[in-house]
Amino acid sequence: MFMLQFGTGVQGGCPTYRNVLNIMKEFNLETSPVHLTVSFGKGKTAWTNYAPSELTERLQKDIERFEKLLKFINKFEAIFIFLPIAKVLKWYGFSEDFCNYMVFPLTALFFGTGNQVPYVSSAIMARVFLDDDLRLFDYDSKRLLSQTPEMFAFPKLEDMYKTILDNCGLQFHGNRSVSKVIRGHGKVTVSDQSGKVEQFDEIIFACDAETALKVLDNPTFMERNALGNVRYFNDLIITHEDEDYMNKYYELHKAVDQYFIHTDQNDPEKLEMSFNLANYQPHLKGKNRNIYQTIYLNDHLRSIWTEKELDPDKILLRRWWRQFAHSWHHYAFVVPLVKYIQGKQNTWYCGAYTLINTHEIAVISGLAAAHRLGAPYPFPKDRLAVKQFDQYLLVIHGHSRVPGLNKTSLLSYVMAPFMLVFAGLSLIVNFFYKAFFA
Ligand SMILES: Cc1cc2nc3c(=O)[nH]c(=O)nc-3n(C[C@H](O)[C@H](O)[C@H](O)COP(=O)(O)OP(=O)(O)OC[C@H]3O[C@@H](n4cnc5c(N)ncnc54)[C@H](O)[C@@H]3O)c2cc1C
Repeated sequence: MFMLQFGTGVQGGCPTYRNVLNIMKEFNLETSPVHLTVSFGKGKTAWTNYAPSELTERLQKDIERFEKLLKFINKFEAIFIFLPIAKVLKWYGFSEDFCNYMVFPLTALFFGTGNQVPYVSSAIMARVFLDDDLRLFDYDSKRLLSQTPEMFAFPKLEDMYKTILDNCGLQFHGNRSVSKVIRGHGKVTVSDQSGKVEQFDEIIFACDAETALKVLDNPTFMERNALGNVRYFNDLIITHEDEDYMNKYYELHKAVDQYFIHTDQNDPEKLEMSFNLANYQPHLKGKNRNIYQTIYLNDHLRSIWTEKELDPDKILLRRWWRQFAHSWHHYAFVVPLVKYIQGKQNTWYCGAYTLINTHEIAVISGLAAAHRLGAPYPFPKDRLAVKQFDQYLLVIHGHSRVPGLNKTSLLSYVMAPFMLVFAGLSLIVNFFYKAFFA
């Protein structure tokens, strides 16, 4: 007998997570290297990133054309950021099989919350392949993916954050969820769920946008829009050892694959994701058990979920998550407004929802809020870490890290009027979108 430990939620990252990795280094936390392996589809629609397949041969022409399209999208990112990937693929005449069995599963792998893959912004998808600093895979014009890039797995996250909290000299109150925040007279008054009230000079919200909006007394017009437009979805994650289920819905190569995607046969835009945790979580190494995790996306689609087919005796854990999705709405109606809620009435916002749903962005967003309150940025010597931080600070705070006359501060002044126009347009378009389409 042994205690089985496994992580749910955040599992790992790529070497470009420089801010996360630097923080881990500061606290002597180790990562475990893994090579990413994926298995999408089943039977005739099966493909992987480590072997040729019938599907990739059949869709060869689409794969070749898609690379050219991604380059085009990347060139005109400012426009394509508002255009969902499914629409763009349709306009450019890609086959349904290519969209349903190759592009959507891949999109789900990168951004997979809420079964919103058709609506993911096409510009964000292009970045995953073409951004020199951030890309995960080199595009293969024959097989789309043909590399198993090196990633890293986190240690157990609970232990990791406990180590950080124990060693960074701050006071942490884990059991005091915030229930009300009142701003006024240059102070912030915060009540917790037990009714205890305390006063602060500033507040940084590091929770989800829904909670921030719920607890804020008298939110501003911009806060109601920026926070209120984040769309959340409920996903169910079941950790299990049901190999029959895995074999029924996936092409299961037990010793190799980490990520799996199953496409619904009746509605191929809808997907289910699974993982074999034993193939990458360090705490499961040497245990000789395959521990699977299946994610059922968006509870509004519960009628198509196949969770009931799981053998109840083989279920280890059921857990609900509420996550936002990278739909084009997010980049049209949320991100352009976040700059205008930062620092107003002694209130700051961080969290992955302010830009992209990754652990790295969540961490950068926290460092940015701290920086605006006077904390020096801790990793100025790491080229990629500082580049990502500066870009975030510019877009989400409209600020330069280094004061005085320099390239980024000039850029922030030049961008300011454009950002304002953009935010105004975002509000107007959203008004009409809600009136006629929502
Ligand atoms: C299943 C799954 C797998 C994922 N895997 C990965 C991965 O492998 N790699 C990766 O980079 N990203 C991954 N992500 C995305 C990643 O989890 C998020 O980007 C990241 O956790 C966002 O961090 P955050 O700080 O913005 O929000 P959260 O991590 O959601 O933190 C918000 C915090 O606010 C707290 N809170 C809420 N309400 C209150 C309140 N009233 N008072 C006080 N505190 C409150 C919550 O308890 C929580 O701790 C995954 C997401 C999911 C759902």
